[in-house]
Amino acid sequence: RCGYVTIVGRPNVGKSTLMNRILGQKLSITSKKPQTTRHQILGIKTEEGMQVVYVDTPGLHIDERGKALNRYMNRAASEALRHVDLVVFLVDRTAWTEEDEAVLDKLRHVRCPVILAVNKVDLLKDKASLLPQLEELSSKLSFAEIIPISAEKGHNVDQLEETVARYI
Ligand code: GDP
Ligand code: MG
Repeated sequence: RCGYVTIVGRPNVGKSTLMNRILGQKLSITSKKPQTTRHQILGIKTEEGMQVVYVDTPGLHIDERGKALNRYMNRAASEALRHVDLVVFLVDRTAWTEEDEAVLDKLRHVRCPVILAVNKVDLLKDKASLLPQLEELSSKLSFAEIIPISAEKGHNVDQLEETVARYI
């Protein structure tokens, strides 16, 4: 089995950190500074009987006005959604922003399943504060699964990968 999995989300939610965690190496540059990922970065994870191509993408920006780099990065992110078997939509544990909303809008046109992964749960003080908008979100787009993770600490990333394997 073989499949393409695209990781999308607004800048800084931890897409590249997740990519590196899954691949077990520092393939993609991670940074507190937005816009460090400027192209699609591909990483292949090979396991018995299965190959998964993970695609890290630049964060989608709302503000494209006059900014060639932003336009370029948005195009790279959008193209990665064209030939894909599964999407991992990465969001932050607490803050839902306009930029997340814009990514969600793009995903309405995607035909493959979308997994919503809520990242940085290691920073949560209590479980109850996990993304209050979660219910509202699931009414906007029907997600194959919703999984809280910490890409940095590795919490639940195994579970995410198992879920990916079920949909490939
Ligand atoms: P990207 O722009 O979506 O690719 O985000 P990056 O992977 O570059 O990460 C942005 C920042 O968030 C970096 O400083 C990461 O170290 C941090 N980060 C990513 N995942 C986690 C996480 O699970 N927990 C915490 N505490 N920080 C994270
Ligand atoms: Mg990145």
